[in-house]
Amino acid sequence: MRSDTNGINAIENHAPPRSYLPPKRFDPATLAVHADNVLNVGSDVAPALHVSSTFRYASDPDELVATQDLKVCLSSPQLSQVYPHFTMLDTHIYSRETAPNFTRLETLLQSLLTASAVTYTSGLAALHAAYVYLNPKNISIGRGYHGSHGVLALHTRIAGAKVLSLECDAQDLGAGDVIHLETPVNPTGEAFSIKKYAEKAHSRGAYLLVDATFGPPGLQEPFSLGADLVMHSGTKYIGGHSDMLCGVLASRNEEWIHDLREERTYLGSVLGNMEGWLGTRSVRTLALRVERQSVSATKLVSWLDGLLKGEAHGSRTKDCGVVQQVVEKVHHASLQHLDMKPWLEEQMPNGFGPVFAITMKTEESARSLPSKCKLFHHATSLGGVESLIEWRAMSDDTVDRRLVRVSIGVEGWSDLKDDLMEAFGALVD
Ligand SMILES: *Cc1c(COP(=O)(O)O)cnc(C)c1O
Repeated sequence: MRSDTNGINAIENHAPPRSYLPPKRFDPATLAVHADNVLNVGSDVAPALHVSSTFRYASDPDELVATQDLKVCLSSPQLSQVYPHFTMLDTHIYSRETAPNFTRLETLLQSLLTASAVTYTSGLAALHAAYVYLNPKNISIGRGYHGSHGVLALHTRIAGAKVLSLECDAQDLGAGDVIHLETPVNPTGEAFSIKKYAEKAHSRGAYLLVDATFGPPGLQEPFSLGADLVMHSGTKYIGGHSDMLCGVLASRNEEWIHDLREERTYLGSVLGNMEGWLGTRSVRTLALRVERQSVSATKLVSWLDGLLKGEAHGSRTKDCGVVQQVVEKVHHASLQHLDMKPWLEEQMPNGFGPVFAITMKTEESARSLPSKCKLFHHATSLGGVESLIEWRAMSDDTVDRRLVRVSIGVEGWSDLKDDLMEAFGALVD
């Protein structure tokens, strides 16, 4: 802590905690509310929104360390003798490096993700930063989120990397290459085995990057299954209210985190103050939201899949006929029955994610279904408290045009069920 802290200037003037040190394995719901207590200085219970782009240096000249000296003696044990008041980078300097609000969010995230976390302006900015840093020669990737392929197209143009399929031969990968695994995957919400791809990558000295946006903390722990780097579009569940863009990279490799932070300073893609503040506010309820959204989605999927198979289960038998008339197939990790015992139950022990997809019988009904819903907004994106439904052809030119993506919010699930059923009914009327 700087020694000249006084009054309002002292508030939250800390730099990020250096590394992930699990204090005690608290429940994630507890960590989401308290893991940032170490940053509390003032008496505010709710963190303030800090807008400063620059921060005063220490007022005591003895405490000032020129950057040249800092670089020379950063690893030197004598540093503290030369500069007795110096503790490594203990305050914010300029907000392209660190700033109070996103530092607080990163502190919360590092405890929830069980790894150190770096935030970015968006999920794709995080992904771009990952590829700039790792600079792999080969990237093995499946279909998934179309925007990620846009980032790869940029990267292959600039760096000449080669894009391979997710199911490429392990022999095609070499040291430093990357397997990019999105799970659960956009837009269907189906899951892939993290362990399997981690083993494949590591057998060749390659790394596993997991885009875990659809399986936020609470649903899966990619690091315990072998992931080297985890990316989230924080725009989705971490933000949770459809009102901010954010990206996150997390890793247990402290050298990577140090370098990613440094490179972010030059990429310039730091999270804004407002987003850091909103994100902190949102993460408090992450566990509550995601658990509820995931349970509701799984109930809806099971209900819909049941109707498709002719099992009414308390619904009107007429509903079976309606659903069978308009729906071709439902997609969701909870329907991967053959994968459950082998790996899926272990990977997603607390639920299968709040996003699922429906292949309709015709493109026409996929285009019309959203307009028949009253509770679901017809909009892209996911992870917010509001349920969304999207004719996916509106934003992804690679998907089956009969596909509708559904993101479940925090509403009562049976209201959502009734809304969907009425919409299906309106299609056949
Ligand atoms: C939304 C999304 C992204 C991109 O995140 P932005 O925050 O929109 O940049 C990447 N991957 C997946 C799986 C997503 O859903």
